[in-house]
Amino acid sequence: MAIQVTRSSLPEFEEYVEEIRDIWTSRWLTNNGSKHQSLEAALKEYLGIGQLVLFSNGHLALEGALQAMDLTGEVITTPFTFPSTTHAIVRSGLTPVFADIDASDCTLDPNGIEKLITEKTSAILPVHVYGNVCDTESIEKIALKYGLKVIYDAAHTFGITLQGKGIASFGDASMFSFHATKVFNTIEGGAVAFRDPALKTRLDALKNFGITSPETAEYVGGNAKMNEFQAAMGLCNLKHVDEEIEKREQVVQRYQENLAGIQGIRLLKARSDVTRNYAYFPVIFDGFKKNRDQVGEELEQHDIHPRKYFYPLTSKLSCYEGILDSKDTPVALQVAQRILTLPLYSDLSPSEVDRICQIIVS
Ligand SMILES: *Cc1c(COP(=O)(O)O)cnc(C)c1O
Repeated sequence: MAIQVTRSSLPEFEEYVEEIRDIWTSRWLTNNGSKHQSLEAALKEYLGIGQLVLFSNGHLALEGALQAMDLTGEVITTPFTFPSTTHAIVRSGLTPVFADIDASDCTLDPNGIEKLITEKTSAILPVHVYGNVCDTESIEKIALKYGLKVIYDAAHTFGITLQGKGIASFGDASMFSFHATKVFNTIEGGAVAFRDPALKTRLDALKNFGITSPETAEYVGGNAKMNEFQAAMGLCNLKHVDEEIEKREQVVQRYQENLAGIQGIRLLKARSDVTRNYAYFPVIFDGFKKNRDQVGEELEQHDIHPRKYFYPLTSKLSCYEGILDSKDTPVALQVAQRILTLPLYSDLSPSEVDRICQIIVS
């Protein structure tokens, strides 16, 4: 059977049916219904944060965060991410300015930020890529010095804590994605967690046409509301997410036993002051007997489907050709050519992991 890079978590069928049953009584399908309210409350508790607004997906949550903060001009960010991060900046009328990454964990390298700051810079948008937590201290120190906002793309860091605090307690706002392929899913879905309570009204309005009362629309908002069926899936999946993460940890350990210490294979480092969610298992082939593309092709021949997360860099996407004048990010470029994200989901068996690793090292 084919092994995909990931497999969506689902509750038992009956459990979901039970959760959606009362929707047939209420006939309330979307617009801040009771499932939506319950999920918002449950996630605040689980993630250890005071303020959170749900969205129909993570991408629109990120656009919502950027737009709610009235940013202007330039945003310093990483090109080593999913296209969504960069598109959210551009679609919000802002200009991404790319800084390089740290090779050890692939997050934004704070040392490259300061030299890119101009009078047009209004924010920094780092990504906790693969669930690796950024150097939040250094990034936020720079932001404070220059009066910039910090918005994290936390799509990969569901449930992670840093120094005992929920990851979204850092910076001005964090975006989570609850897409089907993420550690916690609501089929499609996302959220913005934020510090300033005044942003709540704004974010709530921005996802609902900017409407603030029956006869007023204070903002030019779109439609990005999470519906009751998505929220119900979230309520079910949230009950099992800790168990899912524990199972993912077993899979990652098995990979590490197979691949650690092999000449030319590099695994990424995690900070020691974080809890982990084992969202992805990226491997860097540097000086290995086969290059990244050869390993990828061999796995494909065995019906195993890893992904080149993240290649190409978003600064190299064809939609930005001739539009973004991006500076070189040599470390990101190097990593993007050598990295492969291997299959990882909670019920990937030890023997399947062994088989994948045997194909890689043979
Ligand atoms: C998944 C993802 C997004 C987008 O989230 P959606 O919920 O799919 O819209 C944004 N950034 C990163 C890094 C992601 O992995």
